[in-house]
Amino acid sequence: MKEWYQKDCMVCTRLKIVLLLIVTVSVSACYFALQTLQAAPKGNAAVPRYIFLFIGDGMGAAQVELSSALLHDAQSFTMTSLPVLGMATTHAADRFITDSAAAGTALATGWKTTVGTISMEGNHLDTLRTIAEMAKAKGMKVGIVSSVGIDDATPACFYAHNATRKNVYDIAVQMASSGFDYFGGGYSVGNFPENQAKTKVFRGDIADLMHSSHYVIARNTTELKAVKPGTPCWAYTDYDAKGALSFAMDRRNEEIDLAEFTREGIRLLYNPKGFFMMVEGGKIDWACHANDATAAAHDIKAFEKAIGEAFAFYQRHPGETLLVVTADHECGGLTLGRRANGYETRLDLLHHQNVSQQRFSEKVSAWKKQGAVTFPMALDSVKVYFGPGNVEADSSLALSEADRNMLQEAYTATMRADFSGTQHIDAFTPAVSALLNNRAGIGWNSNAHTAVPVQVFAIGRGAEAFTGFYDNTDIANKIMQIAKLKRPAR
Ligand SMILES: [Zn+2]
Repeated sequence: MKEWYQKDCMVCTRLKIVLLLIVTVSVSACYFALQTLQAAPKGNAAVPRYIFLFIGDGMGAAQVELSSALLHDAQSFTMTSLPVLGMATTHAADRFITDSAAAGTALATGWKTTVGTISMEGNHLDTLRTIAEMAKAKGMKVGIVSSVGIDDATPACFYAHNATRKNVYDIAVQMASSGFDYFGGGYSVGNFPENQAKTKVFRGDIADLMHSSHYVIARNTTELKAVKPGTPCWAYTDYDAKGALSFAMDRRNEEIDLAEFTREGIRLLYNPKGFFMMVEGGKIDWACHANDATAAAHDIKAFEKAIGEAFAFYQRHPGETLLVVTADHECGGLTLGRRANGYETRLDLLHHQNVSQQRFSEKVSAWKKQGAVTFPMALDSVKVYFGPGNVEADSSLALSEADRNMLQEAYTATMRADFSGTQHIDAFTPAVSALLNNRAGIGWNSNAHTAVPVQVFAIGRGAEAFTGFYDNTDIANKIMQIAKLKRPAR
């Protein structure tokens, strides 16, 4: 009896195990099928339909942390909240420290080239196809946005091919022949008369060429908002002497900011076949060249706001969007800490600076023309626009005798220097800015780029491929692989 019972029980157990296995396999299959259905883009499985590549020019990890600590308080940045993090080396084919042309070529084509070259091989004979061109060939729409001139090195690397970034007019001409759908941000420096005059082959005014290629030109918010989706558009806003947007901290309300260029770009490019959009925070680099920490922090915040627009789009299309944020190189050798300050930082002192170095330098230039601003008057301006000397606000801003002497020397040298046209050598503004940066405990090691690897943040379809440590050429290669973009033989 006992034996029979035991035997029956074993049969039951076996049956139960088989049944359990069947149920487990079925449930798992259903679960994975559901997961795939939820995540896959409608129509084309596993390929992102909407691709964003954000490039913070000159934006190293120290720059990101500076901006976050100075301007965001408890609120975290979108870019640093993205789930995937990688790092990329940035060297050029011929130099350890790269420039925006070689780095832009790496990010746009997946190939190393020489410094100064725009999406061509280092031999300057062969052009390199860009991911933007590959996306266009696949039927996607393409948008290129930058806070500096639209024919500056980084944006140029996505639509143009030239032996040198200096040929800005020839680069701008290629904007009109690119067939891309949206250009937004700074003006075309190549279209400045002095640059038109430099070209070997003048093909006409860039605006005329853009019109002939059926681009609508929008010069302000109202005009940009009136452009209908699907219409090819070149949009710019008020620009400075170098064709760039104002530094974010100097921007007037009526000027279009990087976030609006991005938002409107998304509106114009959105279509069932998808789009590729590159957005550059170009003035971060300019601020870092000048060692202007406050301006860099504000421009990163503006860049962050633009990323926020793409992130909001990602949230509406999570299974169909890939968002990648990186930098082309670090600039300025920025460190958060300084030998003379030890463990002390006073980043909050940077809040006393309320104009960029560029804007302050324009004032210094005006003083020089007027010849009526004395050194004590100049010191008053320093106090108002940068903070040093404003002991009423903070005793840490006090000027020592040595500081005063140093500033007076820089002021005298600046006022004495030859003045010709718009060019003027200004030793005073950098001296004022350095004084504030030193007090804040910020260290700058260079006025040029550095070879420090840069961070890569990513989210969305295929984003996990961006984990790890790799070369900047791999960023383009990964995008090509994930989006199944057709790369021609080299
Ligand atoms: Zn630079």
